[in-house]
Amino acid sequence: MKLRKISVAAAAALVLSLTATACGDDNNDSSRTGSGSGKKIRVGIKYDQPGLGLKEPDGSFSGFDVDVATYVAKELGYEPDQIEFIETKSSDRENALARGDVKFIAATYSITDERKQKVDFAGPYLLAHQDLLLNQDSDIVDGTDLNGKKLCSVAGSTSAQSVKSKIAPKAQLKEYSSYSECIAALKSGAVDAVTTDDSILAGFAAQEQYKGQFKLAYLKLSNENYGIGVKKGDTATVDKINEALKKMVSDRAWDQALKDNFGLAYSYDPSSKIGVVKD
Ligand code: GLU
Repeated sequence: MKLRKISVAAAAALVLSLTATACGDDNNDSSRTGSGSGKKIRVGIKYDQPGLGLKEPDGSFSGFDVDVATYVAKELGYEPDQIEFIETKSSDRENALARGDVKFIAATYSITDERKQKVDFAGPYLLAHQDLLLNQDSDIVDGTDLNGKKLCSVAGSTSAQSVKSKIAPKAQLKEYSSYSECIAALKSGAVDAVTTDDSILAGFAAQEQYKGQFKLAYLKLSNENYGIGVKKGDTATVDKINEALKKMVSDRAWDQALKDNFGLAYSYDPSSKIGVVKD
């Protein structure tokens, strides 16, 4: 299919000046297990978002969030084989952190004031925008065409919330638990559009099995600043992750991860890079 490249303003980590982490970590939470070489860290990602967080058929993981999470984990002292990736769906993220199921979450997780009441965030490390994915022959051109249409998004996402509150309050919103279910519904004609971040939609559209099937509307309906979610109050980990993100940007691993994962579907325009690492 002809998937037009979309440009994205990619936000590097807005790393706050670090305060000393002399208070250290609490090593008692269940998201980290064992000690010495047998220790593990549990990290929340998405399992079904190509280019971002994907569990491959062979059980390995790929995507930009996976690469960011792997880099961050290394900076926290964990090699790739010491990471246990746990699926954290959009509606599970706050609870997974509160329960201590995972040490941190890198899962297309937008930083919002509402979420900041429940979790802390490091970053942001990428800027995406809410958009629409449509079938090629769709006549929907903008948000005003959506009222009365069947629109799919995911429960617990900023995308679903903004449909209800501003983008298309009169659309028939179907909230599934994952974007892959929405994509299947779009393919079958059960819904007229899928809405979420352009980064996610582009990743699906670029999949071999969907070639020629879908198109993006390129509406930039919002700014979605992806952060790394951490348990509320764990400022030591937030500080360490911000340091790791800053390093990832400065040693170019971040650019490389972007190229590796969004090469086909999602072009990164360096001139639109808005997130400047702050020392
Ligand atoms: N970035 C948005 C959010 O955090 C949509 C993507 C998602 O559901 O993970 O809600």
